[in-house]
Amino acid sequence: MKLEEIKELDSKYGAKTFSRFPVAFTGGKNATLVDEAGKEYIDFGSGIAVNIFGVNDEEWKNAVVSQLNQIQHASNLYYIESQARLSKLLCERAGAKRVFFANSGAEANECAFKTARKYAFQKYGEGRARIISLKDSFHGRTLFTLTATGQDCFHQYFDPFVPEVTSAEASIKAIESAGDGKACAVVIECVQGESGVTALDKEFVKELEAYCKKNDILLICDEVQCGNGRTGKFFAYEHYGIKPDLVTTAKGIAGGLPLGACLFYEKTENVLCPGDHGSTFGGNPVACAGACNIVERLTKEFLLEVTGKAEYLRTKLSKIDGVKRVTGMGLMIGLETDKPPKEVATECLERGLLVLTAHTRVRLLPPLTITKTEMDEGLAILRGVLQK
Ligand SMILES: *Cc1c(COP(=O)(O)O)cnc(C)c1O
Repeated sequence: MKLEEIKELDSKYGAKTFSRFPVAFTGGKNATLVDEAGKEYIDFGSGIAVNIFGVNDEEWKNAVVSQLNQIQHASNLYYIESQARLSKLLCERAGAKRVFFANSGAEANECAFKTARKYAFQKYGEGRARIISLKDSFHGRTLFTLTATGQDCFHQYFDPFVPEVTSAEASIKAIESAGDGKACAVVIECVQGESGVTALDKEFVKELEAYCKKNDILLICDEVQCGNGRTGKFFAYEHYGIKPDLVTTAKGIAGGLPLGACLFYEKTENVLCPGDHGSTFGGNPVACAGACNIVERLTKEFLLEVTGKAEYLRTKLSKIDGVKRVTGMGLMIGLETDKPPKEVATECLERGLLVLTAHTRVRLLPPLTITKTEMDEGLAILRGVLQK
């Protein structure tokens, strides 16, 4: 189908929830995509940190197709081999005890929040149900996770929100006062993605860990965007030397298939019991087969390569005229530019480069497998757009 036909169908029948760029992709290889008219693009977005091994990765496709050739869905009423294998891989990789699988980041957070509430209820009874997030956070679009999202721009129209969920500035004082003795959990993104790619302060995060431990408040790390190797560690919290009680992830974990995961650690591994939580699709055999392949390949050696690529890209980016500041961590990059980010994204697209925006910044989340040639091609386009 030609772009014009696709656009017409979408604008007539699709919900109006998305303002889309005028392009439809049909294929490509690694970080080079092709649209329906045959035009090529360098991909600095990975479909928002999802295609972390690019597109048409042979090994990943083989893992997925081999599962498809067996059975596509079974239900969590039965045992699922690829899901069981993935649970072990994730626990070993992240030092976790158990995993619950969902289909998205919001659902993974939903599971973590419910777990925190049950943990506190069983231990302290009523009155400790409060979940505290940080200002400028993003945790998803379901009502619970939207309430926890600390950005007012997402909060229009959807009152009333979930009670006992609130946001605080990134300081222990603010968190203590927001909790008021009623908090069961604090949720953080070590690198805040949607609000502009901002890494949290190391000292604050360490203090927060100590504060949470002392008060038996669960620390939840939302690694939906910053996890899965993006910052050069398997999870971004590893840069901070902390031990969270719950970790959530999604986006890149299955290399492009919908999968979310909530990881439980010592305090939380036995909180949820049969009947407490569930999902029809969560931990689907095909998504889990894809994720097993991804997680197996996010080795220490591979993550060192990610760090090297990030250093290369960041150095080059900081030297571009029109880039005022480079933020974030690893291959999760924010750019403060002279030009408004939306304009940058539109001009880049015209010239064959995909970049994202996040609030007031340009956001780059390239596939972790991006080659030096692809980075150089993308940089040349970005230079042209920003220096004009
Ligand atoms: C994208 C994102 C979510 C929501 O994930 P969905 O899969 O869209 O539900 C939650 N938290 C963070 C940090 C995210 O970046």
